[in-house]
Amino acid sequence: MHKKRKQPWDVLFAIALAIIFGQWAGETGSIFGISFYSLVDTLGSLFLNALTLIVVPLVSSSIIVGISKIGEEKDFGRLGSKMVIFYVGTNLLAILIGLFFVNLIHPGHAIQANTLNVDSEKLHQIQSHLQNNQGSSFIQLFTSIIPSNIVQAFASGNMLGLIFFSLIFGYCISKIDEKSGTSLKNFFQGLFQTMIQFTHIIMKFLPYGVFCLVSKVFMTTGIHSLGSVALFFITVLVGLAAFMFVGLPLMLKIIAKVSPKRHFKAMYPALMTAFSTSSSSATLPITIDCVEKRAMVSNRICSLVVPLGTSINMSGSALYECVAAMFVAQAYGIEMSIMTQFIIIFMSLITSMGVAGIPSASLVAVLIILNAIGLPPEGIGLFIAVDRILDMCRTTVNVFSDSCCAVLIAKSEGEKQVLAQDV
Ligand code: ASP
Repeated sequence: MHKKRKQPWDVLFAIALAIIFGQWAGETGSIFGISFYSLVDTLGSLFLNALTLIVVPLVSSSIIVGISKIGEEKDFGRLGSKMVIFYVGTNLLAILIGLFFVNLIHPGHAIQANTLNVDSEKLHQIQSHLQNNQGSSFIQLFTSIIPSNIVQAFASGNMLGLIFFSLIFGYCISKIDEKSGTSLKNFFQGLFQTMIQFTHIIMKFLPYGVFCLVSKVFMTTGIHSLGSVALFFITVLVGLAAFMFVGLPLMLKIIAKVSPKRHFKAMYPALMTAFSTSSSSATLPITIDCVEKRAMVSNRICSLVVPLGTSINMSGSALYECVAAMFVAQAYGIEMSIMTQFIIIFMSLITSMGVAGIPSASLVAVLIILNAIGLPPEGIGLFIAVDRILDMCRTTVNVFSDSCCAVLIAKSEGEKQVLAQDV
């Protein structure tokens, strides 16, 4: 049983300290000839590696254990349709909130796109990445669902392939004879519990990991970089906040009839990890732990909804992509008709599903949207400087949205224990 723990304020403290330290030390600060940057970079990478290390065994064992308990085909169908409804529903809500604020605040009208300095090297990198992958990226994503070599899929961290294999594997276990089935189930149950213990050990290092990762970001991205894009920054933040602190809590309260405050408390460690790593995939072990052991969603639902959500339910990213595309249009003085805005909504919905749970993945999605509606791709250079900090915020929203979908589905399946008690 998960040990009860007071709210770890140490993590928030670590973030505040990291921001101050990062700004003070900058990229060049050093001690005894060792640069602070390389120090926090190395230690932060160790923390990230530890998190990524357990993703494959934790996710596969979690899904196999959960699915082997479902077994019935009609249950799969019902849970699958609920997932589609909640994923699309939350993403649409996020995009519409973003669209509302970008039309209200008009951040792009405050700047003159042609007079801005664009980080051309970074832009070039993203553009060539897009050129190499465009068109094939969605097909690649689609074909990666069924990998031809499972060892390779596990080794390369192909999440969709891993989820697909584990789903079918778990389902097949439920169909074999009881004697062999039970020993396999026990094995994966044991593996799952072991990986959860592993997660708890990593969580002990959370404040230190958070400190290193956040100070690294603030050493390279000074607050001054906000400059002319401050209004864009504020629009994205207000949109994300409205979705996370009003939209999702209302859904929790009205549809699931649970206390949003309790859910925030339950998800706190995962949200802090998402914020500091900017990677929903690396946060996945902690998200699973929080949803199952703190929000008390059953393994049957959590094992399905959370890993799949981490791969395709990116509400914060969808909102960001929509606001970014509108921002570029405004900056270039291009009037957006209702029809074009509709295309942006649709494209944000689709591209956010293809975005990987890694830092800055949305930048490529924004380029795809700009290309699709005929906006200048250089426009992305307008906000690259603030992308990293906004990435931390949208990743937090992505993770929170996945956890809300798990709670909503669990409650709709009649799970009374969900958020019945405070953590
Ligand atoms: N960093 C985000 C995530 O991991 C993806 C993005 O760039 O929007 O969820």
